[in-house]
Amino acid sequence: MATERKDIEARYKWDLSVIYPTEEDFYADYAKAEKSIKNFARYEKVMCSSAKDLYNTLKYLTDIEAIINKLWQYAHLNFSVESANSAYQSLTAKVRNLAVAAGTASWFVEPYILRIDTETMETWFTEYKKLATFRRMIEKIMRRKEHALSDECEKLMAKMENCLGAPDEVRNILVNADLRFGKIKDENGNSVELTDPSYATFLMSGDRKVRKAAFTTLYKTYEQFGNTFGTMMNAMVKESTTLAKVHNFADSLTASTFKDEVTPEIYNNLIDSVNAGLPVLYDYYALKKEVLDLKEFHLYDIYTSLVGELDRKYTYDEAVEEVLKTVDVFGKEYADALRAGLTEKGWVDVYPCRGKRGGAFSSGGPGTEPYILMNYLGTLDNICTLAHEAGHSMHTWFSTHYNKPHNANYTIFVAEVASTVNELLLMHRKLRECESADEKLYILDQIMETYKGTLFRQTMFAEFEKTIHALCEKGEPLTSDLLSKEYYDLVCRYFGDGVVCDQQIAYEWMRIPHFYMNFYVYKYATCISAASAIVKRIETEGASYVKKYIDFLKCGGSKSPLESLLVAGIDMTQPEVVTSAIDDFADAIKQFREIYNNKNN
Ligand SMILES: [Zn+2]
Repeated sequence: MATERKDIEARYKWDLSVIYPTEEDFYADYAKAEKSIKNFARYEKVMCSSAKDLYNTLKYLTDIEAIINKLWQYAHLNFSVESANSAYQSLTAKVRNLAVAAGTASWFVEPYILRIDTETMETWFTEYKKLATFRRMIEKIMRRKEHALSDECEKLMAKMENCLGAPDEVRNILVNADLRFGKIKDENGNSVELTDPSYATFLMSGDRKVRKAAFTTLYKTYEQFGNTFGTMMNAMVKESTTLAKVHNFADSLTASTFKDEVTPEIYNNLIDSVNAGLPVLYDYYALKKEVLDLKEFHLYDIYTSLVGELDRKYTYDEAVEEVLKTVDVFGKEYADALRAGLTEKGWVDVYPCRGKRGGAFSSGGPGTEPYILMNYLGTLDNICTLAHEAGHSMHTWFSTHYNKPHNANYTIFVAEVASTVNELLLMHRKLRECESADEKLYILDQIMETYKGTLFRQTMFAEFEKTIHALCEKGEPLTSDLLSKEYYDLVCRYFGDGVVCDQQIAYEWMRIPHFYMNFYVYKYATCISAASAIVKRIETEGASYVKKYIDFLKCGGSKSPLESLLVAGIDMTQPEVVTSAIDDFADAIKQFREIYNNKNN
């Protein structure tokens, strides 16, 4: 039976009373934000009159946004641990509405800034020093100048906004509500319903019959709906390539990377470097085939673990010590702030309980502590998750402590760097310190799994996106047959000759929701590459390098992602960054093989 929330000790639940002591305080701030939003219209006329007016407008707007962030944290954090509480559900809905109202009220800010010419803006920056704190925000808007449309067209596009994105909505509803995948026999011979989410669990099964049944049964359904999925994908890619053209971009890849403030070269470098590293991935599959003792290694054998679960369990307090021991290398400021957060300031909501959502996340921002949601059960894997989320939270902590609120939010391009750095550091440290061969093999299996899933698989997805967008831009209709053929060829290349490339995998593109997010997934791969390169430098150079890394965390959102990574000495335009991650992967494979062979000979 699930634990009731009230039965969990207070020190293992987060302390949200720091945000608002009572609900009345929440409503007081809510009313304040509502009033400010109503009054914002008066800035429209004066905003572009002088540097001071522009400053006042932006200050007023960002103050509203800061209150909304506080309200949002309070509402959504409470809701995520008490999802059955309708009061919290209604608070989150209210804050969402407030955010929409703020967006609508501030419609003029961007187009008006775009009307100011660059020279005037530069004069204003020197004339009125305070305005310079908004330099990054203004420059982010100004760089869109050549892609902005006329006022009339922008208004029309804004009206059209909620008619876009339909293919994704249709896909979600089809997969999650309408499709039936049939039944399979589980490990105990019971007939069980196969769903898209349960498929992932069945594929990890130690029982090969179960894995194979899940694989063949699931794709039988997808295959039947191929034309529907093809039509949705074609519509989505057409939408994205058309919008790119409308906004005067060379193609949709350029438009998407522009949004991330990077370049198509970085995208292409990633793909090239990962392709050059494919032999390492082939070696990983060869190792898996060998350890699982299979004559033929099929695609449904990929996800099963090489080692069983570890018996060793850790109390939450031990987990905290493990994480703190890992971050010791970052110096006193980092370690002290994290220790206080984890032990005194109630950052973490630790245990699962009735009504609490699953998984883990970190959430915070200006005006609140960087909170962490966990569902802690005592495994080594859970400790890695705590280290990961603590990485996010400390990135947020440094960003908010060293920047004005409007410069605090770091970009998505760097969002998974600090978290992955912590995770890799923890795993590397445990590997050095632990004595048992089983524990070492377990950790190495985790490291290999991380690189395979985050670096190689996401890059394979990125390559598929690039191919199909380019085909569409050449005027090629994306039919189900074409998409399946392109996908199958790609999968065969990424798995190599050592793996039997089962024909059903050709339909996998139908079940990947990220393909509807326009060049999103490559960021997972670039983040783990950057993190791996950072970890290597921390481990070899020590304190002299750590300072650079902390300076990167302090950048928050005050610099572009590429500039802030340069602060950490990481140049994303260089292929070595990706190569470093591939080397770490190769190293884990080598170590696994050695320990495994020693153990079994
Ligand atoms: Zn994360």
